[in-house]
Amino acid sequence: MKNLVWSGDRVTGVVFGDGNGRDIVATARFVVDASGHQSKMAQQVGDRLYSQLYRNIAIYGYLVNGKRLPEPDSGNVLFEAFDDGWLWYIPLDDTLTSVGAVLPKERTGIKENQGNLAGTLQDYIAACPIISEYLAGAQPARETPYGEIRMRQEFSYCHSHFWKPGILLVGDAACFVDVLLSSGVHLATYGALLAARSINTALRGEIDEAVCLHEFELRYRLEYSRFYQLLSGLYDMGKKRPTYHAWLRKWLRDTNAFSLEPKKQNVDRLIREKRPLPKNLSSVEFLRQMNRKMLLTAAITHMEQVESLPAIEGNLVPSPDRLHWLD
Ligand SMILES: Cc1cc2nc3c(=O)[nH]c(=O)nc-3n(C[C@H](O)[C@H](O)[C@H](O)COP(=O)(O)OP(=O)(O)OC[C@H]3O[C@@H](n4cnc5c(N)ncnc54)[C@H](O)[C@@H]3O)c2cc1C
Repeated sequence: MKNLVWSGDRVTGVVFGDGNGRDIVATARFVVDASGHQSKMAQQVGDRLYSQLYRNIAIYGYLVNGKRLPEPDSGNVLFEAFDDGWLWYIPLDDTLTSVGAVLPKERTGIKENQGNLAGTLQDYIAACPIISEYLAGAQPARETPYGEIRMRQEFSYCHSHFWKPGILLVGDAACFVDVLLSSGVHLATYGALLAARSINTALRGEIDEAVCLHEFELRYRLEYSRFYQLLSGLYDMGKKRPTYHAWLRKWLRDTNAFSLEPKKQNVDRLIREKRPLPKNLSSVEFLRQMNRKMLLTAAITHMEQVESLPAIEGNLVPSPDRLHWLD
């Protein structure tokens, strides 16, 4: 896909290359941008807001023949912290392991040392005794696409809008939050499920398209916000184990407790400041504003500062076969 085709304020198709140097236009009622974090189309749907809190760098690569945790945990991931950050160790199959270091962007030396990412990653592995031991008999993977040590920067963001008429963003094209909780694939597939359900319903013409797409964005944003806020607490590295347990228990209880509408005065204020929205659409605008504040806040350093989420309910419910929305 090379570009979007617009007709007025609606996307009506895409331009793609046919592989022989020619551009072809394909028209569609809906376009779903699932082209990942390097999407060239997403910026036509909304602004990408980068998190001020998780301004991290990941340096990662793949090794073969690393050790596995004892059964029944052999497929489980392992994390180990070092002074500047933390390391992940993710078994991908019986022999292949993804290993990556996550550290703050401000960390000096990384940029200057980009020519030697393998050496930099090796240094961080050496700072983690458990993972070093697991990798004692391992070798760097050579097969494409695993043979390269890569770096990714500032990988926590969210778009200001997830859809415009005729186009929806899903997966990394829409949002991404750090790597600690491995939420990327879940958010991508959950977003795709919501998008498919909303498009199905809009195509049947039973519920207004804007209402269907707001439902998609509302539920998707709530899920993103849950992971984002959960991370804010877990990155408070100085606590003792029981404190994490207590905080997590409270967090899970609170985020599963629905039915508290967003504070009415907030919604009223948002509606006053923006163009008026139909009543059942106002909670999406509330969440957009909340996500913006969340991403632009750099000051959370303790789990006690993490704000609880407003338990907003969806406006629609899934049909029994889960393929459509019902109102
Ligand atoms: C270092 C790192 C570690 C991670 N570890 C984990 C983990 O352990 N667990 C987890 O759940 N998530 C993890 N993630 C996140 C996860 O990889 C992503 O969130 C997930 O792959 C997003 O899926 P996606 O389909 O949106 O994008 P992608 O997987 O990036 O797929 C996008 C696809 O679109 C294609 N494409 C791009 N542009 C175009 C175009 N113009 N036309 C046509 N096709 C196009 C690309 O080739 C690609 O195939 C990690 C991410 C990083 C950076």
